[in-house]
Amino acid sequence: MVPPKSYKELGDKIELTYQCFMCNKDNVIVVDKVKYNRFLAGAFAQNVWPELSSGDREVLISGTHNECWNEMWPDEDEIINDLDSEIDGEGGYTA
Ligand SMILES: [Zn+2]
Repeated sequence: MVPPKSYKELGDKIELTYQCFMCNKDNVIVVDKVKYNRFLAGAFAQNVWPELSSGDREVLISGTHNECWNEMWPDEDEIINDLDSEIDGEGGYTA
């Protein structure tokens, strides 16, 4: 878990600004302050924010944009497709 670059209190909410380590741009997310304090105290993001998407929870854990994160960890289907096309291109071992 990375600390936010800055934060702003908005009543019972808190606006957190992270710096995405992939693209170095700001990533802003607004969450419930009480929940954020539970997270800081060591609760798992998925237990604190079951209603958020895994991408939004990823922001709170690593500060990374959802899109940047997906770029770094493409889903398995894409990896398998890449391997298939590579094998086809090589033409196997029929020398
Ligand atoms: Zn990014």
